[in-house]
This record gives sequence, structure tokens and C-alpha cells, in this order.
Amino acid sequence: MKPPRFDYVAVRSVAEATEALAQTEDARILAGGQSLVPLMNLRLARPRLLVDVNGVRDLVGFGGRNGTLRFGAMCRHRFLETDPLVHQKAPIFAETAALIGHVHIRNRGTLGGSIAHADPVAELPALLVALDGRVIASGTGRERAIPAAELFAGPFTTSLDPTELLTAVEVPAHTDGDGGAFSEFVRRHGDFATAGVAVIVHRDASGTCESLRIAGCGLGPTPVDLSAAGEFLLGESELGDGAARELGKRVAAASDPPGDVHGSKDYRRDLAAVLAADAVRRAWQKAGAARRDPGG
Ligand SMILES: Cc1cc2nc3c(=O)[nH]c(=O)nc-3n(C[C@H](O)[C@H](O)[C@H](O)COP(=O)(O)OP(=O)(O)OC[C@H]3O[C@@H](n4cnc5c(N)ncnc54)[C@H](O)[C@@H]3O)c2cc1C
Repeated sequence: MKPPRFDYVAVRSVAEATEALAQTEDARILAGGQSLVPLMNLRLARPRLLVDVNGVRDLVGFGGRNGTLRFGAMCRHRFLETDPLVHQKAPIFAETAALIGHVHIRNRGTLGGSIAHADPVAELPALLVALDGRVIASGTGRERAIPAAELFAGPFTTSLDPTELLTAVEVPAHTDGDGGAFSEFVRRHGDFATAGVAVIVHRDASGTCESLRIAGCGLGPTPVDLSAAGEFLLGESELGDGAARELGKRVAAASDPPGDVHGSKDYRRDLAAVLAADAVRRAWQKAGAARRDPGG
């Protein structure tokens, strides 16, 4: 199918983009187009105006300052997956982005687009919740930060105003003793995940767990913060197999996933248990390895 008629404008700055959004009802940002264009072709989205932000230089790039890492909204999934600086400073983004679709999707799809689209099975929104990050949103003449906990309002729904442009994503900088892992289940290579779990662990110099955050995709109507399920591991310095499986059980019990053609509620809960146990084992091990080999 082909999309309904729409107008198109390619903008060169954040100000031009927010101006265009404010002036036309039913205007939409066009980022990688990997979700919006299929929705338009299926006539499930009918924007009157597409505001193409692919030429806005201020929306690309990645860097760190004052303990915060900042990603431009137009960072492509493939950039996150392959950039050496991202591997060094934010390895969990590289691991997570590599799980998204196929390589040609990752070549075009963007971090900001994935978060603004807010698909409950998408990986990057769940990662943002696990990292307790935030997004920066610009409207005409104003800018605000929205914490992940206040961003996701429902399936494919965020607290961004339709006239706001998501310009950047910010997360706490990766430090020695941090370890992260994203585990997911897909039926076929490149499919959307049936369910996924991100775990971020911080262990101190003696190996003791100081913080542990968990978030899931495919386990609720939005990315779900499941960190409370891991509180029993705070203060522990060893993670045995029993403790990893106990974490899995608690994550499953705390999840209220939907049932659909891809898997029943019970099936997704079982998946959550296995995925959380796997992710915590890997994150824990990476956090310990980072302490033993801070240069590596
Ligand atoms: C075959 C296929 C497989 C896929 N598999 C996966 C998968 O496994 N996991 C996954 O997470 N995703 C998957 N995707 C989706 C892909 O990750 C998209 O890149 C992502 O969902 C949207 O990013 P985009 O840059 O393409 O956004 P677009 O499609 O351009 O936009 C999506 C929505 O977000 C809005 N938007 C975009 N950028 C901004 C912004 N900066 N500010 C405000 N609003 C904005 C748009 O207006 C639109 O409503 C798949 C897509 C396809 C076609």
C-alpha cells in the first residue's frame, strides 16, 4: 500500500523543526522512518506534514560531561552498535542496539525515533528505564528534561507534546564497577523480541553489589521498571546460580505481560524468569571484571 497524501519539509535546525511542528496540526517528525513509514503505508498513521530532521547537525553526536553521557536523538542504531567510543564509554548501548531488527533497519533507525515511538517491545526504551536516564525535549522557545520514569505513558504513547522534538538522550556515565547486559528472546533472527530484560549492576572495589537496576520489554504496556525485584542482592558480593534463578522468579512475579499471538501471559512470565537470570549473571560478571581490569 501507499501512504495518504502528505506535505514534506526538510529542516536544518532544531528551531526550524519546532516551528514547523507548532504551525501544522498533525505534523510528525521523520527520523529513520523505520516505524513511521510502514505505519503510513498501512494507513495507520496519516500525518499532514512530515518534518524531516535528517539534516539537523545538532541532533547527531555522542559525548560525556560531568558524569553524564549525551547521545543526539539522530544517533543511528548502527552507530551505537559499531562506534569505538560508544563501545568504550557505553558498552550496553552497543550490545542492545545490535539486537534490533536487521542491519539495514539499524542503518536508518535512530535512538530518538525508537524512544519517541515507544513500542512496548522495543529494546532502547527499556534500556533507558534500566539506566534511569532522561530525554531532552525542545518546543518553540523552551527546553525541558523528562526522566524515563515520566516519559512512557502507554503503548506507543509518551509524555512528549506533539509540538516537541526529542533532541537528546542522557544517561549516567559508565564507571568502573558497572556491568550491564540485555537478554531477549526472538523467534527468528531480526524479529521484534517476544520479551527482553536489561540488568545494570554496580559493584564496589570489594565486589559488593551497590546498585542493581532491571527493566523489561514485552512485559507490560510500556517498558517496565522491575528494579524492586533485585533489592535482595544489594550488599551481596557473590552471585550463585540459586540467587540468579531467585532473581528470575521475582522478576516474573513482578511482571504483568500481555498475552497475544506471540506468547501467552504465562509464557512471557516464564521467559522473563530465564532472561532476567541470564542478564544478571552476565551483568554481575562484567561488573566484577571491570573492577579486576579497570583499563580493559
Ligand atoms: C522489519 C523491522 C524490524 C524492526 N525490528 C525492531 C526491533 O527488533 N527492535 C526495535 O526496537 N525496533 C525495531 N524496528 C523499529 C526500528 O527500531 C525503528 O528504527 C524505531 O522504532 C523508530 O526509529 P526511527 O528513527 O526509524 O523513527 P521514525 O520511524 O522516523 O519515527 C517513529 C515515530 O517517532 C517520532 N519521532 C522520531 N524521532 C523523533 C524525535 N527526535 N522527536 C520526536 N518524535 C520523533 C516520529 O514522528 C514517529 O511518530 C524494526 C523496524 C522494522 C521495519
